[in-house]
Amino acid sequence: MAEQAKTDMKHILQLTKEARRIFLNSFDTLMSDCDGVLWNFTGPIPGVDKALQLLRADGKKLAFISNNGMRTMEEYQKKFHSLGIDAHEEEIVHPALTAVHYLKSIQMRDAVYCIGTEVFKDYLRTAGFKVLDGPKERFPDSREANQVRVYTDYFEQHGTKVGAVVIDIDVNLSLQNLMKAKCYLERDPNCVFIAGATDYIIPLDSSMDVIGPGYFIDILERTTGRKALILGKPGKALAQVVLKQFQITEPKRVLFVGDMMPQDMGFGTRCGFQKLLMLSGGTPKDALLAQDDPEQLPNYYADSFADFIQLYNESMHIEE
Ligand SMILES: [Mg+2]
Repeated sequence: MAEQAKTDMKHILQLTKEARRIFLNSFDTLMSDCDGVLWNFTGPIPGVDKALQLLRADGKKLAFISNNGMRTMEEYQKKFHSLGIDAHEEEIVHPALTAVHYLKSIQMRDAVYCIGTEVFKDYLRTAGFKVLDGPKERFPDSREANQVRVYTDYFEQHGTKVGAVVIDIDVNLSLQNLMKAKCYLERDPNCVFIAGATDYIIPLDSSMDVIGPGYFIDILERTTGRKALILGKPGKALAQVVLKQFQITEPKRVLFVGDMMPQDMGFGTRCGFQKLLMLSGGTPKDALLAQDDPEQLPNYYADSFADFIQLYNESMHIEE
């Protein structure tokens, strides 16, 4: 099955003239990831502005689905603006806002323990949730005989009822944070367990990858026996949010564009979308060709968004 999916996978500029026309007519909505596709850590990816303008001019609806909750919505909009792209707030799916939306939908009244960036926590606070984090003080380096008491005093909740544990990207994450989350989840089976981004590796550039929250979510799942509700890509819960928010009735008429196989292509598969992998971010071509899981394979791939410019230019010449 994987072999067949791999054989069917085509670079968009290797399509025949007829196949290019069919491809461009096969979707009404283009949903795109952001990091590694529109920009990377060194700046915008050349040609993105022009490509998106051509897609908009061709009547395609655009939406942007990021797993990156480290940046505020205003920062997202500024970044879009600097690229010459007009993106409205309702076209951007932000992981922290998805978490807020979900917690409101289940009428969460209790405190939320959050492992995440200050940006993420601020979104929860602004929405009216009581947010707990930390502990910030060091674990006591104690030789006291009663170690159980030392641990209990440090990790147990005192007074505040915690109704949800939320974990997302947090570059300051510590063993203390994980222990705290573990205690909340173990002590109360009704405490909701939510994860945002599930990335194991966050690619920065060719010289540096950062360890993502995926491994830490695994630690919490394995030590508590609980399963996180995934509100980032490729989560099922996010798929429901996206299909509803953008009123998608025909998933096959959506093209999902991203640079990561598990998150972006996995999410596209889950939603029943067509999938296009951009080689401009976290997936080198040899990794794409080595992929054996058909759920993580795209239908199409391209070097970058700039390939759409060539695709449109050449398709226009054909029509002339
Ligand atoms: Mg990406």
